[in-house]
Amino acid sequence: MENKKPYLSVIVPVYNEADNITPLLSELIPIVSEFEYEIIFVDDGSKDSTVETVKKQTQKNEAIKLISFQRNFGHQMALTAGYQEAKGDIIITIDADLQDPPDLIPEMINKWKEGFEIVYARRGKREEGIFKTTTAKVFYRLINTLSSTPIPDEVGDFRLLDRKVVEMLNLMPERSRFLRGLVAWGGFKEGYVLFTRKKRVSGTTHYPLSRMISFALDGIVSFSTKPLRIASYIGFFSSIVGFAGIVYAISLRFFFPHQYWVTGWTALFVAVMFFGGIQLITIGIIGEYIGKIYKEVQARPNYLVKEKVNIN
Ligand code: UDP
Ligand code: MG
Repeated sequence: MENKKPYLSVIVPVYNEADNITPLLSELIPIVSEFEYEIIFVDDGSKDSTVETVKKQTQKNEAIKLISFQRNFGHQMALTAGYQEAKGDIIITIDADLQDPPDLIPEMINKWKEGFEIVYARRGKREEGIFKTTTAKVFYRLINTLSSTPIPDEVGDFRLLDRKVVEMLNLMPERSRFLRGLVAWGGFKEGYVLFTRKKRVSGTTHYPLSRMISFALDGIVSFSTKPLRIASYIGFFSSIVGFAGIVYAISLRFFFPHQYWVTGWTALFVAVMFFGGIQLITIGIIGEYIGKIYKEVQARPNYLVKEKVNIN
């Protein structure tokens, strides 16, 4: 492997990123030209001129390839499609908006040469707002408490994978693709390089709060069944409290029949609301898992490809 230069696949998911493609390529190409390479753009059903912009580039350079989705299937599906097509010994995924600096790639490749099979670009500092930074922190804390697969924090989808890891991913048939977790699941040797996550060059994030919450829930439900366990514990605990209450109320009735210990409906009302809430939350938790099972059972394709350019 030392003598032969590795073949490099770079996967770029793009969703309405027309303005970012040319700036990205002008940074990326000088860096990857040292190797044999391919750059696979996966268009996730963009509504702007992303596809046309990429197509122009594919005509100039055969190493630039395009997979275009029928509609928007989401970032993780775009990456999944890229992994399926990538031919490289090394596969790198990078965002189109230049938040992930391409000049980190040589450093990542050096790590790979040292024997690391997964090299994460870890966000040492973020130039993003305090809101995004804190919500991200809370999410990683939560998922790592719940999941038995350790999911590295401060790590996004900017990473290098050895061919072996991608082959593992390609064997995973599941529809719910929380790739950060799936990648870590295999127990491959993990390394890091540090970088500062910049602001977007152009456009706005496709992950507003609602989408981040649903992404986070997806990740948790895919990688942990502990919420179900927690629901059982809560049920068990409140049953004990309830049982103690029964014993208490009945003994009062028998031994102090003339003393009223219930002073009004407040206690009753509070207890009913509280346990009603717990029951609904518990049903919700179970529902999340049933929803996942339902999706898996339906077994629809993960994505539909409309068109491929420079890929045969
Ligand atoms: N993206 C995608 N499909 C989507 C949303 C986003 O392919 O439905 C792409 C997007 O074009 C970008 C990358 O995924 O290249 C990351 O998205 P974004 O920059 O919006 O996320 P953030 O960096 O804010 O987490
Ligand atoms: Mg971004």
